[in-house]
Amino acid sequence: MLKIDNLFASVGDEEDTKEIIKGLTLDVPAGEVHAIMGPNGAGKSTLSYVLTGRDGYDVTGGSAELNGEDILEMEPEERAASGLFLSFQYPVEIPGVPVMTFVRTALNAQHKQRGEDEISAAEFLKKAKAVAAQLKLTPEMLRRPVNVGFSGGEKKRLEIFQMMMLEPKFLILDETDSGLDIDALKVVSDGVNALRSPERGMLVITHYQRLLDHIRPDKVHVLADGRIIATGGPELAERLEKEGYDGVLAEAA
Ligand code: ADP
Ligand code: MG
Ligand code: MG
Repeated sequence: MLKIDNLFASVGDEEDTKEIIKGLTLDVPAGEVHAIMGPNGAGKSTLSYVLTGRDGYDVTGGSAELNGEDILEMEPEERAASGLFLSFQYPVEIPGVPVMTFVRTALNAQHKQRGEDEISAAEFLKKAKAVAAQLKLTPEMLRRPVNVGFSGGEKKRLEIFQMMMLEPKFLILDETDSGLDIDALKVVSDGVNALRSPERGMLVITHYQRLLDHIRPDKVHVLADGRIIATGGPELAERLEKEGYDGVLAEAA
């Protein structure tokens, strides 16, 4: 499903370029959840930005395909509309745009990309109500502007709401620096587990072995200095929790 081959990417402008991703190869088959762990500054967030097409990140080599399509050639909006979803480590506030309008617009963009009709107002409302109830989001919250005045935990639930409404084909969660509390951790892991499906792949970037106790990943990868240097099962995350990264880094070197 997601196939990254020998990817190189850098940040910065012409005078000051810094190579961050240095020959990264990774396959996430449909139906699987893979975790990426790694020391601070390894390039984990950079990888998610490169995949979603954020400004300021240049791919200098290699390839990344989603279901056989070259995503690096697509505009960020096309990537999103074709079903690639990146969670927001730092949620943006969108004053003046109610949650419901925002999500409906994004959903319709997806439908358009797939050549499908727009979702009807009634159908959208029905789905939104069901998902909101599941996440304990009130109708009042969904009428408010996106993230404006929402608490940290509410923003997290709102993000999961968007995820569950959009039903992305491929999901990237970058929770690295977000300092999730226990409640938020549960919201995130319940949301991710609810979205597990044979057609969907997920990449969960995390510092926390804790999160992986709730989201049992199929594989755990260690990203260091811009490359995947080790891959294992959930036991690898447990080992990292106990030993830190030094042992794995030494073995790779
Ligand atoms: P991680 O998420 O693994 O902690 P990042 O992907 O955020 O790491 O960052 C990887 C490296 O790239 C770090 O050394 C960071 O300082 C650097 N970096 C990230 N973004 C930029 C940028 N816009 N300009 C310069 N350096 C950057
Ligand atoms: Mg970091
Ligand atoms: Mg990061």
